[in-house]
Amino acid sequence: MTVATAGPKRANRLQATKRNNQMVTAYWEELFRAPEEGRLVCWYEGIQMNPILQAADVAWCHGEAMSALLAARNQEGPAQAVAEAQGYDRELCSYARTHIGCGVLTQQEHNPDDDLAPLPGEALPERNLGERVPVPDMIISAYPFCSTGQQWDDMLYRTFGKRVPIFNISMPWIWGNKSSAKYMAGPEFRDAVDFMVAQLRECVAFIEGRTGKRYDWDRLSELMGHIKQASELRLEAMALCRSRPSPASFFEWTNSIAPVNFLPAGPEIVEYFADKKAEIAQRLVDGVGSVPQERYRLYWDGIMNWNKIGWLADKFANYDACVVSGRYTHLGFWQEPQVIDLDDPLDGMAQNFLSCPISISAPQVIEKTIEHCRDYSIDGMILHGAHTCRAFSYPQFLIGEAVGRDLAIPSAMFEGDMVDESFYSDELVNSRVEAMLEQIDAQRARA
Ligand code: SF4
Repeated sequence: MTVATAGPKRANRLQATKRNNQMVTAYWEELFRAPEEGRLVCWYEGIQMNPILQAADVAWCHGEAMSALLAARNQEGPAQAVAEAQGYDRELCSYARTHIGCGVLTQQEHNPDDDLAPLPGEALPERNLGERVPVPDMIISAYPFCSTGQQWDDMLYRTFGKRVPIFNISMPWIWGNKSSAKYMAGPEFRDAVDFMVAQLRECVAFIEGRTGKRYDWDRLSELMGHIKQASELRLEAMALCRSRPSPASFFEWTNSIAPVNFLPAGPEIVEYFADKKAEIAQRLVDGVGSVPQERYRLYWDGIMNWNKIGWLADKFANYDACVVSGRYTHLGFWQEPQVIDLDDPLDGMAQNFLSCPISISAPQVIEKTIEHCRDYSIDGMILHGAHTCRAFSYPQFLIGEAVGRDLAIPSAMFEGDMVDESFYSDELVNSRVEAMLEQIDAQRARA
């Protein structure tokens, strides 16, 4: 393997991605102001409840998003420390640990006997981001597969003195082990979707009970129209990256999760992906790749290491390796917009929630991964095992074995984490990645 030594090469960042940070900052500032503006606040984790809440004019805090924001801005320390001081072990999901820490910090800032009233606005600017999230007026728990997700909400419920109403949605796991079961098809999937839709309707009734207002279903359809359009543009832009060199990387898509995960639905998210797609299309015309010299095309299986996105993008660019795509970005987050019927959006929403890669069993994940690796001409696979998220990493050895057997794609496995960088070892990553690239070189030499 030849690794360039003339100096570190950097990934070519897309200009359009920069707007993501501005939208994210604007969203959080709006959330921090919500109580002053008389809006109720909901805390939730997991699936995208945001359009359902937005249609009721309820502000929302998505737990993983809050934890990722803190990590990306190097402000996760106080929340994680306070959670550990409360007895939440380092082995616990770092998203949950960080967000529960935010809950403890937020609660400590309030007099528990004064109806959870927010602090005066002038105190806000000096406070750490993790303490600025308003206390919830309601909690919605809707976590696919992983029991940590459900217990996380229960712990928040307790943190806020069991006084915040909580609504629990049970998300069925798609076993897919009957011959009738296919990805998003068959009786098992249909039953699960119907079960989910019924619960979403009950959840809307719960929200109506909290707001005291009739739910605006037309608004939900309108919001889902924006989400559907944005998601279609995102998938079209991703598909352009099947070209060599790939004009954008997995890291760019990771940096663009917020608009399809928790940012408010509206024309802004559509424009964002339209601009991104246009910039990628122009790169194709100009022959510009995401890495200066693309020699290897890789796939990233695993959640992102939020503390290290830009750093990892440059690290792989320096190996002349473009991480083109990944399970986290390409198989989730409104990944099937075509099934969303704007006249009756709940069914299509449920289908998307139940086909995300931690709702379906390993054989279906493997089938989608193999199809994807073929489409994107992948040479090697990164298996990033998040130390504190076994729900995402449990099928990784099976995935690595399957792509090795069926596509002769070598893989490199290393541990890291979503928002606790102490689980990451750079030396280990270097040695595993370099060994995999050497294996690709050897295969090419033999071909
Ligand atoms: S362990 Fe993974 S799947 Fe479970 S709550 Fe944490 S991030 Fe989500």
